[in-house]
Amino acid sequence: PPVVAIVGRPNVGKSTLVNRIIGRRQAVVEDVSGVTRDRVFYDAEWNGKPFTVADTGGWEYGVKGLDAKVADQAERAVDVADAVVFVVDATVGITATDEAIVTMLRKARKPIILAANKVDGQSQEADAAGLWGLGFGYPYPVSGLHGRGAADLLDSLVDELPEESAYKDVLTAQGPRRVAIVGRPNVGKSSLLNNLAGANRAVVDELAGTTRDPVDELVDLDGQIWEFIDTAGIRRRQHMASGSDYYASLRTRAALDRAEVAVVLLEASQPLSEQDVRIIQMVLDSGRAMVLAFNKWDLLHEDRRDDLEREIDLDFQHVAWAPRINISAKTGWHKNRLVPALETALDSWETRIPTGQLNSFIGELVAAHPHPVRGGKQPRILFATQSSTRPPKFILFTTGFLEPGYRRFITNRLRQYFGFQGSPIEITMRVRE
Ligand code: GDP
Repeated sequence: PPVVAIVGRPNVGKSTLVNRIIGRRQAVVEDVSGVTRDRVFYDAEWNGKPFTVADTGGWEYGVKGLDAKVADQAERAVDVADAVVFVVDATVGITATDEAIVTMLRKARKPIILAANKVDGQSQEADAAGLWGLGFGYPYPVSGLHGRGAADLLDSLVDELPEESAYKDVLTAQGPRRVAIVGRPNVGKSSLLNNLAGANRAVVDELAGTTRDPVDELVDLDGQIWEFIDTAGIRRRQHMASGSDYYASLRTRAALDRAEVAVVLLEASQPLSEQDVRIIQMVLDSGRAMVLAFNKWDLLHEDRRDDLEREIDLDFQHVAWAPRINISAKTGWHKNRLVPALETALDSWETRIPTGQLNSFIGELVAAHPHPVRGGKQPRILFATQSSTRPPKFILFTTGFLEPGYRRFITNRLRQYFGFQGSPIEITMRVRE
């Protein structure tokens, strides 16, 4: 179902309004500062139309200053939403904090319903009318407290909503994280899966109401359920003489399509093969988060290990950002390192750098290391923004074409500063002519 984000600064009555919308049964717990709410998405329905409410009250991020924090929170919510309810306290009017949200909302091309809250009686009607000036259309006077006006607001809201959410990804993020184990035949994929699953195979009933592919498997690791993609394909012991490579590639690609993070399994003692390189490239092309796992470490003689680490460093320079773990699928050695690596990679994959923070970083970097002058011209970066997550993508607005070396420099520094361990990142330019 489509997602509706409820945004607004603290104390405008977001929670009361959310409770009105979703009904008492699954009511939001009151805001306690410093406490992160455990739920973000709530199911709701109006005029027979189901939708999901994204409550942003508990989304706390480490940003300086309240205004920036509130705006950043709102920005994240708006990103995932198909429509936005912007809640303003009509009795107070527009504050500086509201302004920060207003600026962000104007840039977001999403339907926006303006809720003028705390219009508890006739005397506040005029306050609500004063909000016309925001340019978000009719300010719906509501009283979260009395429930007054909510019906009209919801009528217009569901009219504006598309049938389906354009942002399925974000919603499924609530369910088990989806992992694809990829690697060439005989590298140990099936052994790893068996070792991980062992007695921990999760029962599908634990996730009632979800439909999932029988080729996938749910595995409970450290108390958290993970969904391993296309395990039927991994377990099927097929060694076709010809064409198998091609079908294996198709299968890998299909698994990556449905996964959020890939574990690329490699054989520690074997040199990097062409097939390994192709598989890694497939993961990079898919934009998924990535963890590199070097298997069959038990076969290695102690003396060789240091040399091998150095070789691996060299071979994997171009994906040095991916977490690496050394394991033995056979003995289970280091298998407990997999979950932390997956979590790191997924966190990076979903990271959003607040626009302010991003621009102060780029500003300082560019001041210290300006783009070289070419033909009397020196392109400048005017503004940077993160256009998406999963994986993080950035847009640089520039006054000229940045040469590849400089773009690489910016990318490297961005990684150095913000991390993104385990996630690819992408930078594109928009050049002002
Ligand atoms: P898959 O084709 O990638 O699924 O590979 P399998 O899991 O079927 O493993 C291929 C072979 O490697 C089997 O004979 C396994 O027993 C063996 N193997 C897998 N992992 C390890 C490991 O960590 N150490 C050792 N010594 N052998 C392993």
